[in-house]
Formats: sequence, C-alpha cells, structure tokens
Amino acid sequence: MIKFLDLGLQYKTIQKKIEKTIHNILETGIFIGGKEVQIFEREVEKFCGTKYAISVNSGTDALFLSLKALEIGSGDEVITTPFTFMATAEAIANCGAKPVFVDINPENFNIDVYKIEKAITKNTKAIMPVHIFGQISEMSEIIKIAKKHNLYIIEDSAQSMGAEYKGKKAGTIGDLGCFSFFPSKNLGAMGDGGMVITNNKKLNDSLRLLKNHGSSPEYKYKNLVLGVNSRLDELQAGILRVKLNYLNKWNIGRVKVANYYSKNLKVVKEIHVPVVKDDKTNVFHQYTIRTEKRDELKNYLEKAGVPTMVYYPLPLHLQPALEYLNYKNGDFPEVEKARKEVLSLPIYPELSRKDQNYIIEKIKEFYQK
Ligand SMILES: *Cc1c(COP(=O)(O)O)cnc(C)c1O
Repeated sequence: MIKFLDLGLQYKTIQKKIEKTIHNILETGIFIGGKEVQIFEREVEKFCGTKYAISVNSGTDALFLSLKALEIGSGDEVITTPFTFMATAEAIANCGAKPVFVDINPENFNIDVYKIEKAITKNTKAIMPVHIFGQISEMSEIIKIAKKHNLYIIEDSAQSMGAEYKGKKAGTIGDLGCFSFFPSKNLGAMGDGGMVITNNKKLNDSLRLLKNHGSSPEYKYKNLVLGVNSRLDELQAGILRVKLNYLNKWNIGRVKVANYYSKNLKVVKEIHVPVVKDDKTNVFHQYTIRTEKRDELKNYLEKAGVPTMVYYPLPLHLQPALEYLNYKNGDFPEVEKARKEVLSLPIYPELSRKDQNYIIEKIKEFYQK
C-alpha cells in the first residue's frame, strides 16, 4: 500500500542518530532554552546564508511574529495569495491587519506579480509572497514593487526551505523569511516548530523579545513589550539538527522523483506537469499536476491504492473565517480554476521506483480508458 507521505521510512534511515540525540537531551534535563536551540539557529543561519535565525514554535508563529516585529497591525493591509494554507492569512488577520488577496500565476501557483500593484492602497504595509509547493515566487518583480511603494516583504517559505531563486535561498530575499517544521514539511520536526530568518539586527532583537513574553535579555522578570510564548524546545531542535544535515540530499531526492514523474507524464496530453523556470530550483514539497478530469482521476487512483491530495480545495478568500473580508466566488479566476484542476501525487525521497512506476501506470491507464 503506497502512502501519500511515509515519515516512518525516513525515520528508519536516521533512527540511530535521532535516538542518540533524544537520549542525550533527556540526560541533560534541559528542555527549554538550552544549547540545542542555539546551535540549531546558528546552523540554519549558515544553511541559508543569513545573519539571524530566530526559532519559534511554528510556521504560523513565524509569520505572526514577523508582522508584529514590523509593527503591522490595525488599519494596515498586507498583500498575499488566497491559494495557500490558512496560516498565511490568519497570521495577518490575528495581527489586526487586513489580508488583501491577489490572483495567482497559473503556471506555478504563486502570486501573480503583475497584479500586485493594482491591490496597493495607502494602507498597504507589506507583501507576503507564499513560495508554494517548493518553488520561489518571482522575487525580482516583488522587490521592484516593494521598493517603489516602500513596502516590507515577508516570505512565507514554509514549503520551500532550501529552494533557490537566482542563486539565493528561500527566505533570504525579503526583509524576513518564515519556515515551518511541521512534520510533513521538507525539514520536519517530530512535533511543531518554526523559524524566522533576517539580515536585520533590529528585527532580530525585536523577534527575540516578542517570542518570549518581551522578557529582557538582562533580567528575565522585566518585560519590555507584550509578547507571546513561542519557543522551540530542545528535543525538537536536536531532532531538527540531525535532519538539517540531510535536507539538501532529501530535496534532491524529491527532485529526482519529480523529474521521473514529469518525464513519464508529460506525454499524457490531458495533464499539465509542474513547470520550473531556469532561474529557480524547486524542492517539490508537493508534486502537483493539473487536469480537467481531476475528481475522476483522484477516485480512480484511490481505488487503485494510490492516495492523492488536493491543495487547496477551498481558497482563503472563500473561507468562512474570512467572510468579513467580503470576497466572493469569481474574484480570483486563476485560483478558482486551479482549485478544480490540481492534484498532488505522493512525493518523498524514499518513494520507491516501483511505486513511482505503479502510480504513473495507473494515471496512464485512466486516460487510456
Ligand atoms: C505549513 C504552512 C504554514 C504554517 O506552518 P505551521 O508550522 O503548521 O504553523 C504556513 N504557511 C504555509 C504556506 C504552510 O504550508
């Protein structure tokens, strides 16, 4: 039986190292604010090539606290895409700001950079591009727009750690980059976790205060600003340190599966396989095809023992929780078309060639019938 994602297979390849790490941390008796967290932050700085990495409790908190650090709140607007996980807009809304949506580029599902300027008002403070499915957005255009209108850029890189755009890593191009270590992400914890990266010392200092009750670095019980409790714990940091060593290798493993799928599926004329431009790498958090007969194909594959997923079935502008923003069906034609056509196939470095061949065979079989 093929699984959509099988983290058990990954665990087998690193079991000894993980168990040793957990054991060592248990023996120290230090679970919050110890050296694993500090070292992991330095390792992420090195991996990304950025000055500061600030660990937090989740990708959602990474986004929320980034907005807080930029002092974005009530009366402000932040531009993003509705074709993403709820956390993106939720972080904006929970800061008191208004999420303003822009349609997507149908080729890569990222924000359509040529529609951003029309959405800018006098209240716009930031753009939050989401590097969806493992591929970075058109950042050159976004930077141009941000400079022209004096806006901040927060990259939601939750699905794209390790991806590159014109030689730069995801999260390092804007003012702040946010990662999630939710277990299914390319770098996944065994629980929740997240990280913000930046080259800006002021933002680093502000994030460190905000993530820990505004507690002064000099004296813990002096609270300088209103913050939250959003700390990565030692066990997760230790586990993530082991896994970070494999991230590049695992990302390459995902690309290999993706290339094999694409090579074999591009001959099926009813399917659009993912497009990757020359100036980017794609770390394939998801391998997402488009097809008009999506629901029929999904059912057919399910019956054949091939699990697939639809990301995202209900775009954010149509979410009940965001009804107050007054968007309606039809506002974002590319998102609404994509939502009916997208299908994500199983992808992980450990997925066997035999399983890949079976999945390809069943897809081809569906279209031959
Ligand atoms: C996973 C994800 C998040 C949220 O991360 P959590 O760690 O689950 O809070 C935010 N944005 C995107 C695009 C994601 O995929």
